[in-house]
Amino acid sequence: MNDPIAPPRSFPEAAHDALADDQLRRNLAHVTSTIRVKRAAAVAELPDWEALREAGRAIKTETMRHLDRHLVALERSVTAAGGVVHWARNAEEANRIVGGLIESHRTTEVVKAKSLTTEEIGLNEALAQRGIRAWETDLAQLIIQLSDDTPSHILVPAIHRNRAQIRDLFRAELPGAPADLPDDPSALAEAARLYLRELFLRARVGISGANFAVAETGTIAVVESEGNARMCTTLPEVLITVMGIEKVIPSWRDLEVYLQLLPRSSTAERMNPYTSLWTGVDPADGPREFHLVLLDHGRTTALADEVGRQALHCIRCSACLNVCPVYERTGGHAYGSTYPGPIGAIITPLLTDLHEGATLPYASSLCGACYEVCPVKIDIPRVLVHLRGRVVREGAHSEPGEQAAMGALARLFEHPRAFAAAQRIGALLTAPLRRRGRRITRLPGPLRGWTQGRDLPPPQPSFRDWWRRER
Ligand code: SF4
Repeated sequence: MNDPIAPPRSFPEAAHDALADDQLRRNLAHVTSTIRVKRAAAVAELPDWEALREAGRAIKTETMRHLDRHLVALERSVTAAGGVVHWARNAEEANRIVGGLIESHRTTEVVKAKSLTTEEIGLNEALAQRGIRAWETDLAQLIIQLSDDTPSHILVPAIHRNRAQIRDLFRAELPGAPADLPDDPSALAEAARLYLRELFLRARVGISGANFAVAETGTIAVVESEGNARMCTTLPEVLITVMGIEKVIPSWRDLEVYLQLLPRSSTAERMNPYTSLWTGVDPADGPREFHLVLLDHGRTTALADEVGRQALHCIRCSACLNVCPVYERTGGHAYGSTYPGPIGAIITPLLTDLHEGATLPYASSLCGACYEVCPVKIDIPRVLVHLRGRVVREGAHSEPGEQAAMGALARLFEHPRAFAAAQRIGALLTAPLRRRGRRITRLPGPLRGWTQGRDLPPPQPSFRDWWRRER
C-alpha cells in the first residue's frame, strides 16, 4: 500500500487546479480571516502569552530529547492503570493492530472521533478492506466522509464547503435527513446529531486519537468542541486510541501549559468546550478495555533531522494555516497530504521519504507569519529553508534545466573576470527589453514565466566598473 500521507502529485500542479476554483477561494478567505481576527483577540487577553509559548516550546524540546524514556514511562503507567499498549512502526502495522482488535470483538462497525493520526495512516480504508465500517462522528469529518472527500484543514476539515453545499449533501446522503432540510447551521447540526446518536448507542468499539498523553500518570487527553469524542471514548465497551509517539508529555503539570495554548490558537476559545481525560480503565465507568497504539511512522526519522525535528512539537492548532497567504489561496487539497498549510509543508516531507513531498517546502513565501502565531514557536521558515537545501543536496526535485543553470552560475561566481564579462553581456542583451530604459517587464521564450508575476531589474554596471570609472 502507498504511504497515505505521501502527496500524489507536485504542489505546483495541484495548486494550479485549486486556484481555478473561485468558490473555494471565497470560502477560504471568509473562514480564515474570521478565525484570524478571533484568535488575535483571544491571545491578546493573556499578558503572559509569550511566556506560555516559551514554556510550550521548552517542554516539547526537552521531551523530544528524552523521547525514549518518556514513552517507556507512558507504557508503564497505562499498563498499571489496566490499559494495553501496542507499538506500531508504520501505518501498516498500526492498521493491522487496530483491525485485529476490532475483529477479536466480533463487530464490523466502529465509531470514530476526529483524528489526524488515523487519517495519516489511512485507517478507514484499511478497515474497509477487512469488512469493517468506521463511522466518523465529528460533524465536519462526517461531511467529508459522506461526500467521499478528503479534509482540507486540520481543524475545520470541510472548510472548502459552504452551508448550501452541505445542505445538498445531507439531503442526498445523510440517512433520515428531511427532503426540505434548510441550510441553517443549527438545522444541519440537528440532522447530523439525530443520525449520530443512533450510531453511538449501537457501536461496541470506539476509536480516538490523542492530543496529549501524560507519561507520569498514563492519562490520555482529547480536546474538542462538539462532544462526539466524549461519546466515542466513554460509551463503547472497547476504546482504541491511536497516537503518534510525539504526543507524549512528561508530567501532569505540563498539560496545564498546552490546555491554555491550544484552544486560544485553534478555535480562539479560552478553553475547549470538552476536555476528556482518561487513565486506563475503571470497572465502574467507561470502556471495559482500553488499547493505546503508539505510532512511529517516520517520526523517529524526523527526530534524527536536527533542524526539522521541531516539526514534531506541533500541537495541531492550525493557527499557521489561517495566516498563510499560500494556504488561503490554494486550500488544503493542493498539499496532497493529511497535513496541509505551513506545518504540512514541513512535516510531510519529514515523515515520508523526502522525494515524496519534495515540492512542499517551496509552498511558502517565507513571510514568517506562521512562526509569529505558532503557540509552541516552531520556526517553520527556518525548517522550510533547511528542507529546500536538503531537496537540492539529495537531488529530490529540480525543475528542468535548473541544476545545469545553477552549476553554470556557481562556476561564474567563482571567476570574477568571467562574472564581470557576463554582467556586461547581460546588460547589452537586455537593453532592448527595458521599458523606458528601466525595468524589464517581459522576458522572451522559456524565461517568460519569470516576468509573469514580477518585473526584472536590469543588470547594473558592476561595482568594480563603477570604482574604475569614478577613481
Ligand atoms: S505548526 Fe504551530 S501553528 Fe501550525 S498547527 Fe502546529 S502548533 Fe499550530
